[in-house]
Amino acid sequence: MDCIFCKIIEGNIPSKKVYENETVVAFHDITPQAPVHILIIPKKHIATMNDAEGEDFSLIGEVHRAAQHVAREMGIADTGYRLINNCGKDSGQVVFHIHYHLLGGESLGALVG
Ligand code: IMP
Repeated sequence: MDCIFCKIIEGNIPSKKVYENETVVAFHDITPQAPVHILIIPKKHIATMNDAEGEDFSLIGEVHRAAQHVAREMGIADTGYRLINNCGKDSGQVVFHIHYHLLGGESLGALVG
């Protein structure tokens, strides 16, 4: 499968990993949009949020658990952070392996509200 994030999981493309367990991996985004910009992904290849089903939602919970852990490790838990999933064309998703952007380290401004 020609998936850049699967290749990162397998170690065939280098990445700066900050966290890994049996089900998820977290690594630095190659083009950071904030002082802290980490991508958190399930090891299972799920193309988009639309494709998640059944036990995949437990994996997405594991992504959230990892995000909480990484935010603490990166020192942004207290100041706050944003966790974003882009799904599909209109969102700007370009890598079709489900992933969450963990952004923080500065005031990010309101998206909504
Ligand atoms: P999307 O727009 O939500 O699909 O975001 C994909 C993200 O993957 C972008 O922020 C890219 O900078 C990031 N990205 C693409 N290739 C790599 C890589 O090889 N290593 C780390 N991040 C990557």
